[in-house]
Amino acid sequence: MIATSRAAVVTGPGGPVEIREYPVPAPGPGEAVVRVELCGICGTDAHVFHGRLPSIVFPALLGHEVVGTVVALGAGLDRDFAHRPVAVGDRIGIFPATSCGACYECVVLRRPGQCRQRPPSYGFKSPVEVGSPLTGGFADYLHLANPGTVFYRTDLAPEVAILAEPMSVALHGVHRAGIGIGATVVVQGVGAIGLMVVAAARTAGAARVVAVDGNARRLALAAELGADRVVDVSALDAGVPRHRAVRDALDGSGASAVIGCSGSPAGFAEAIGYVADGGVLAELGNFTDRGSIPINPYTDLLRRDITIAGVYGAGPDMQARYLRALEILERGDLPFARVVSHRVPLRDVEPALRALSTGYQLDGSDVVKIAIDPSR
Ligand SMILES: [Zn+2]
Ligand SMILES: [Zn+2]
Repeated sequence: MIATSRAAVVTGPGGPVEIREYPVPAPGPGEAVVRVELCGICGTDAHVFHGRLPSIVFPALLGHEVVGTVVALGAGLDRDFAHRPVAVGDRIGIFPATSCGACYECVVLRRPGQCRQRPPSYGFKSPVEVGSPLTGGFADYLHLANPGTVFYRTDLAPEVAILAEPMSVALHGVHRAGIGIGATVVVQGVGAIGLMVVAAARTAGAARVVAVDGNARRLALAAELGADRVVDVSALDAGVPRHRAVRDALDGSGASAVIGCSGSPAGFAEAIGYVADGGVLAELGNFTDRGSIPINPYTDLLRRDITIAGVYGAGPDMQARYLRALEILERGDLPFARVVSHRVPLRDVEPALRALSTGYQLDGSDVVKIAIDPSR
């Protein structure tokens, strides 16, 4: 058995991040130990890093988009969550949240995300010293210590498998927006999650997908992942000029579904203008509290029969969505491997978190998706 694991621990709000060593436990019954091959890092991690998630107590070990290979299985664990055999050496993707599956929220409301008895998700447990310390992906090893952890065996390359978590959020957004055959779709903001939304909307049968962003590298990737048109808003003023450019890309009409992934309240207000009368705006970008925005109920909503839907993470069917996401990635028809723009070692967790907080630049190039590779 391996003796110790390095872990990149955030010591307080805003850092610094320190490499610490913890013993790797032998897995108890139903548990597993996984060697982390790759762990995605996302905007949520950056918010947590800056202390914007009140539930997180420092020092904290982050990292919730994990793919790795099984190095030890505890007694009684020999199958993944889809009942497929799993053995030491297999690659698995881990869904970070767990729930009890037995309480009122889990069984009656069917909202496992609101389970009252759920342990903290992988990558969100804090402080790090309480219980098993190796419960975040920014480390050499991950201890699957939560009962009923949802994980699936996969043969996907690690840089594709880590997209299952953001893809499951995208699938929730596509569901909430009611995107089906013939839909006309605007994806506003094509960071990693927006790119997954582009691919998911196309998979769902959209007739036209328009990607809107201010970054040329992301827009080029959006086109490769299924956007029919891209609109670069970097040189366009907010409001009417952008609405006009997006409507031009839709041959003059609005979109039957807009998915807001910009993450700013102003972007949300702007996205309402992209929706066709009778259409839907599904907002998933404002995942943390970034403030309020005025809305005119008459001109923005009623007069145009517009529906606004909130999309919080992977949603109530989160475990199912994670498996669907893996299956969509496994089709292999789109160049998902190109989404990871940077693979960095554990010692660069802090610069990576800072890059996602300001500027989206790392090592002199535009960030699309950063992945932590402990083997580097
Ligand atoms: Zn994430
Ligand atoms: Zn529960």
